[in-house]
Amino acid sequence: MDNGLKMLLDGAVEGVAKLHPYIPGKPVDELARDLNLNVDNIVKLASNENPLGPSQKVLDAIQAQLSDVTRYPDGNGFELKSALSARYGVDSGQITLGNGSNDVLDLIARAFLKPGKNAVFSQFAFAVYPISTQAVGAEMNIVPAKNFAHDLPAMAAAINDQTQVVFLANPNNPTGTVFSRTEFEAFMAKVPDRVLVVLDEAYSEYVENPDYPDGLGYLPSYANLIVTRTFSKAFGLASLRVGFAVSHPQVADLLNRVRQPFNVDSFALAAAVAALADVEYLEKSKALNDQGMAQLEEAFKALALSYIPSAGNFISVDFGRDAAPINQALLEKGVIVRPVANYGMPTFLRISIGTKQENQTFIDALKEILA
Ligand SMILES: *Cc1c(COP(=O)(O)O)cnc(C)c1O
Repeated sequence: MDNGLKMLLDGAVEGVAKLHPYIPGKPVDELARDLNLNVDNIVKLASNENPLGPSQKVLDAIQAQLSDVTRYPDGNGFELKSALSARYGVDSGQITLGNGSNDVLDLIARAFLKPGKNAVFSQFAFAVYPISTQAVGAEMNIVPAKNFAHDLPAMAAAINDQTQVVFLANPNNPTGTVFSRTEFEAFMAKVPDRVLVVLDEAYSEYVENPDYPDGLGYLPSYANLIVTRTFSKAFGLASLRVGFAVSHPQVADLLNRVRQPFNVDSFALAAAVAALADVEYLEKSKALNDQGMAQLEEAFKALALSYIPSAGNFISVDFGRDAAPINQALLEKGVIVRPVANYGMPTFLRISIGTKQENQTFIDALKEILA
């Protein structure tokens, strides 16, 4: 390699060369091209997307924005923040909007992490935490999971003088595990006030459990807590990229300084306001998810496959052997699910809950493969 280019590459932030890029679910079009399949015969249960299809109210809101494409969006997201504020009983000044909640996680890393500092998170935790952490040259302080779930006491014990941030996913992806109010409160009691606790609640809308700690309700108690939510899952807006964080206003102020001035576009802003108001869509999403979860659990039991009970809109199933050939066989039958070997779970596949028909297509394909 050219010496100048080598020096240029060596000059990159140290963590960047070491990080593994995020591996997304395979797009339907890509599988259709790879295996010469008809797009209409492909079922994608790989990215925890909402299987309901878009809300009509969302489509109307997007339509209404079309004539304004020449204008920059509202960089402060006034209307969406007002709607969020009314819905969740928080102040607009506590909110940071993001291009998906991934963006917010990145903002947190950029504002609070740097070389010499570390972020604590769990083994099997969401793949964006290592990326955001390493991208700014900070260290990963990874704590072994307990039964695939976050081991909160061990995570509290892992916090050291260099720890600046703790990432918690509740429910976690790809395991679907949750921790309770009691566990969370015991954890927060042990975390020093100078450490920012990021509570990633991307799937909170699906959780019914009364023991589930609703992060937003805890904000008045903990100035070092930041809760992230997304419109990508239960609200059905994955393509539009919109998420948000709620925190102490001074933490929000710092995040809003580092974010791009127009990080959420006008379609996403309008769609999110409409999605928030479409209570019926959210109810339907939840009901469909509950039914689909029961359908898959039943099928796994019938096939004598063990799975990790999940509170999200996906479930990870254990084949007890390398799952890559099973994944390949599913792809050949036009079913896209998510391998999780990159999470250190090579015997598992993660299945997003689809419609009843999509779930059945997956189950039928799996039965044939395992027969
Ligand atoms: C899907 C997901 C997100 C949300 O991603 P977006 O950028 O908002 O689409 C965040 N955290 C976890 C754990 C997720 O699974």
